[in-house]
Order: sequence, then C-alpha cells, then structure tokens
Amino acid sequence: CLVLGIETSCDETSAAVVENGHILKSNLISSQMDVHRRFGGVVPEVASRRHVERVTQIIQQALDEAEVRLTDLSAVTVTQGPGLVGALLIGVSAAKALSFAAGLPLVGVHHIAGHIYASHLVEPLQFPLVALVASGGHTELIYMPDHNRFERLGKTRDDAAGEAFDKVARVLDLPYPGGPHIDRLAKEGIATLDLPRAWLEPDSLDFSFSGLKSAVINLLHNTRQRGEELNKADLAASFQDSVVEVLVEKAIRAAKMKGVSELVLAGGVSANSHLRESLTLRCKEEGLHLRVPPLKLCTDNAAMIAAAGTYRFRDGQLAGLNLNAEPNLSLV
Ligand code: ATP
Ligand code: MG
Ligand code: FE
Repeated sequence: CLVLGIETSCDETSAAVVENGHILKSNLISSQMDVHRRFGGVVPEVASRRHVERVTQIIQQALDEAEVRLTDLSAVTVTQGPGLVGALLIGVSAAKALSFAAGLPLVGVHHIAGHIYASHLVEPLQFPLVALVASGGHTELIYMPDHNRFERLGKTRDDAAGEAFDKVARVLDLPYPGGPHIDRLAKEGIATLDLPRAWLEPDSLDFSFSGLKSAVINLLHNTRQRGEELNKADLAASFQDSVVEVLVEKAIRAAKMKGVSELVLAGGVSANSHLRESLTLRCKEEGLHLRVPPLKLCTDNAAMIAAAGTYRFRDGQLAGLNLNAEPNLSLV
C-alpha cells in the first residue's frame, strides 16, 4: 500500500510517499532554518506563513518524484501534534483537503511516533523494543511491544536534550540551531570541565537538563568575572559528554528493565556524533542491537510520519474531517 505523509509541526515543510510502511519512494523536505536563524529560534507566525507558501508544491513534488498519482494512494497521513499549533494546522488542513477531494482515508500521526519509525525505513523494526527519543522538544524513553503500541518509561522533567544543546550554543555565541555546532566544536576540545549529571532517583528513567544548562552558564560567568576566558571547545565537549552519558546509560537501563534486546535511537539529537558512537559502543558491550537512523531521517521529515501512519491505518485508527491540530498531543 502507498501512503502519503505530510509534516509541518515546526520549521520543516515535508511530504513523502512510503510503500508498505517501510519503502521510501520520495521524501521532500523544505527547511525554513535560514528564515528563523536571524531570530535565534523558530518564530511561530513566520513558520505558519512559510508552510502555507510551500505545502502544496512539496506534496506535488513528493507525488511526482515517487511517480504516484493521488488515485494510487491508500491513505493520507499527517502530523497531528505535538508542535506549533499554527504550523500543524497547515499540514492538517492540506491533508484534510486532499483526503476529501480524492476520497482517501485520513490518519493523524503523533510526531514522536514518526521519529521512532525513521529507522523502520532502513531496516524493519523488531519488537519488543525500547526507543530513546531525543529531539528539540522531547527527551523520552518509549517501550514498544509491537507496531503502533507505545508505553512511556521516562521523560524529561524540564528541558529537552536538543533544547539544552540550543541554549548552551546560544551562550557560546554559536548560530541557531546550536546542536550541530556544539557537535563540531566539541571535536576540537577535551571534556575536562566538571559538569553535573542528573541521574535523579536510583532507577528513574526520567531526565533533567536545566541544571546542566545553568551550570554551564554559571561557569562561563564566573570565569569571565575573574577576567579569564574558558576554552569554548572544552566547554562544548564537557557539556556534550554530560548529556550523552546520561542519555546512553538511561537507555541501556530501560532496555534491561524491559528485557528487550532492540534499542532504537530517534529524534534530531540522534544526529550527534558522540551520542551515536557512545551508544553504539555501549550496546555492543551489553549485547543489544542498536538502530540509528541515517542523518537525513533524524530531523523532521514526512517519510517517518507516513511510515508510522501506515501502521495506524492498518489498525483502523482513521481520523474524520474534523481532525484538528493538537499542540500537546500525547503519545500514550
Ligand atoms: P520535536 O521533534 O520534539 O517536536 P523538533 O522537531 O524541533 O522537536 P528535531 O527536528 O527532531 O526537533 O531536532 C532538532 C534538534 O536536534 C535541535 O535542538 C538541534 O539542535 C538538535 N540537533 C541536530 N543535530 C544535532 C547534533 N549533531 N548534535 C546535537 N543536537 C543536534
Ligand atoms: Mg526542526
Ligand atoms: Fe521532530
């Protein structure tokens, strides 16, 4: 079955065609990064306007590139939430219009379910699995006993991992989004600075990154007050080490607690080279099979939405034309 995916939850306008839930036929992504960079973050109103300008063309291009007509499709899937409400609404409206005009079933997809399914486009997922989702807005450990079944084991109590990367990058005067810049800078430094790791209660699978962020800001501030300058590369490396160590160890702990041998990395932060290396190494030591999505599928794209949406569609979880954007949609 051929499924169209539409994703507009944040600052990427994307449309894709996926066959049988895992074969990528096309995946068009139009990023607005350049528009938002000068504001140091995504401006919701600007994002919505950009999505309106791009969404119709992107859908057409995705169909053209896949050499698929609307009548070949089995369903239209779209990110329903979470995300920016105005941005989500553009994708949801486009999907509803298409579904109505072409008489196609409509499926609303959770954005984080999409991130987990990014790996499914490379090699089919095996269940049960534990997914570590680390993105700009989420940091969660999810247990999946089967397709389209999600159970949350832990989540961040404050900032998301990507948010911490972006905020620390900002105090280091690096451009937005800061994650990739910290990644690059950290390669030139040594993690010599002593920064906290928020393990929380023993056995807790929750995360917390705001204390680490404050520790970085205080360290910078205090050194500057002494008239000294910190080595930014060392600071980037130390910060990255702290985030990655906690993410990796909690993901391993979650897999052990659930007795699974499959671990899936997901979300924009999974593009981080240190996280990828460190998790690969630890999974090897622990005898876990790790899936890491290719860089292009780590950040927001519609192919992952179409993949996740295919399994909702197969479970008969269809939406009506009253489908609405849900900025705080919950996965479970
Ligand atoms: P959500 O998926 O939670 O709604 P989002 O869609 O904004 O949030 P993604 O697009 O999945 O998030 O990921 C973007 C985040 O990933 C940003 O915070 C960005 O800094 C971070 N990121 C991207 N590449 C890297 C990297 N190499 N190292 C660390 N962080 C990175
Ligand atoms: Mg994004
Ligand atoms: Fe995302």
